[in-house]
Amino acid sequence: MDTSYINRSGFRLGRLWIGFNTKMTRTVNMHFIEAEDHPAEYKPGNVWVVGPKNKWVMSFLCPCGCGDEIHLNMLPGSAPRWKYYGNKTMTPSVNRTKGCRSHFTITGGLVKFHGHVENR
Ligand SMILES: [Zn+2]
Repeated sequence: MDTSYINRSGFRLGRLWIGFNTKMTRTVNMHFIEAEDHPAEYKPGNVWVVGPKNKWVMSFLCPCGCGDEIHLNMLPGSAPRWKYYGNKTMTPSVNRTKGCRSHFTITGGLVKFHGHVENR
């Protein structure tokens, strides 16, 4: 599964060890699917935009690969609230406070991770 991860690397300079973090990001594509109801099973890479007429929730598996389901409120008048545009972009970013704690955006169908990702 596509994901993003952090490599720890470094090099020795004389007696001094210099360590640094490099963030490696592989591309994760997300495809938005409008549906009246939730699917029987969520599939990686698909975001279900659910509601009979007015869409009220976006549901998908966390793109980091941890397997957690994410459900984002779309109802006006309650916060936080997520929107999506052109079947490819959602705002604002998703900053998970539980589980993998991934922080990501989906723009133009591409997932971009921000900060630390623990799962692969
Ligand atoms: Zn995750």
